[in-house]
Formats: sequence, C-alpha cells, structure tokens
Amino acid sequence: MAAPHGATAQPSAGLENMPAKEPEKKPCRACTDFRSWVKTQKKQTQETGDSEIEKPAECPLDREELGRCSWSFLHTMAAYYPVTPSSSQQQDMTQFITLFSRFFPCDECAEDLRARLKKNLPDASSRHNLSQWLCRLHNEINTRLGKPEFDCSRVDERWRDGWRDGSCD
Ligand code: FAD
Repeated sequence: MAAPHGATAQPSAGLENMPAKEPEKKPCRACTDFRSWVKTQKKQTQETGDSEIEKPAECPLDREELGRCSWSFLHTMAAYYPVTPSSSQQQDMTQFITLFSRFFPCDECAEDLRARLKKNLPDASSRHNLSQWLCRLHNEINTRLGKPEFDCSRVDERWRDGWRDGSCD
C-alpha cells in the first residue's frame, strides 16, 4: 500500500512502537562565547590559561561576534531607513524584525528578544523612531549583560554621520 501523503513507507520490523531517534544535535557555537566553546570542546590542557586562548581567523561566529555584526547591521539598517516610510515599508520593517527574532542563530538571545518584542513592538513609523527604538532595545540588552548604556542622542553619529569631532572623516 502506498504511504500516506508526505510520509515515507518504513519496513515493518517490529519497531513500530519505538520512539523515533532524534538526530544528535551539535553544540551551537553561535550560542556561546569562544572561550567557553573551547572549554566545552575540552581542547584546553590543564596548563593553558584563559589568556592563551586566541580565536583563529575566519572561524564560525561565536555569540559575541554574531551579536556585534548583527547590531552593526540592524543599527545601520535603521540609520538608512526612509525618513518618512510608507505604510507598507512600516509593515515590512516590523515583519522583518519579527522574523529576525525567529531565526537569530543564538537560541537564548532569540528567545529573550521575542519576549521583549511582545511587550515592546518595533516603532517603524520613521527613521528617527526606528533608530531610537532599536537603541533603547540594545540598551535593555546591554543592561541585562552588565554592559554600559549607549547615549541614544548620538546614535546617528555612531551609525550614519560619523562622530561630531570629525574622527571618522
Ligand atoms: P555590542 O553590544 O555588540 O555593540 C556593538 C557596538 O554598538 C558598540 O561597540 C557600540 O558602539 C554600539 N552600541 C552599543 N549599544 C548601543 C545602543 N544601545 N544603540 C546603538 N549603538 C550601540 N548576548 C548574550 O550574551 N545574551 C543575549 O541574550 C544576547 N541577546 C542578543 C540579542 C540581539 C538581538 C543581538 C543582536 C545580540 C545579542 N547578544 C546577546 C549579543 C550582545 O548584545 C553583544 O552583541 C555581544 O556581547 C558583543 O558585545 P560588545 O560589547 O562587543 O558590543
């Protein structure tokens, strides 16, 4: 008999009641920092101190790098978002941020972000509002991680125009 739509016919060998075995899940590099990753991989010898762990170039991203690259992209995207977006651009941006939170590769970070977005919907009503909303969101996460708050009045200098002192020109 043909298998039902979408199912693959399995040979019956008395295994019908056995739970399907999940493929073994690899540890997630993007969910941890590089030092912790190395430790969990037990590559570190007893004599090797933390300070000796150097990340080789061109390796898969760890949580810190992924975070920095992602924030750079998100803040830059907000800095170049239309000054007065159409309603469909506003909808698209809100949807983009929602989808971003579903696929962000650090699971713990994505879960935390989704919880924040439930209480604090993206404000995509203008470039200024989106940049400020994102700055405040990033600051909430900075606080959670014990990092200093960023001065949101300087977000355009940081992500679009360069510092007022001309050091980026
Ligand atoms: P980052 O925080 O990556 O910031 C990069 C640069 O952005 C800074 O150098 C500064 O110039 C600028 N900046 C800082 N704050 C602001 C702001 N408020 N507005 C505008 N610009 C600013 N890590 C975890 O360990 N746990 C988590 O749950 C977690 N959640 C995350 C959720 C998201 C959506 C993202 C993108 C990242 C998350 N991270 C998380 C990673 C974390 O936020 C940092 O990116 C990472 O720790 C590296 O920090 P950093 O000090 O290099 O600077």
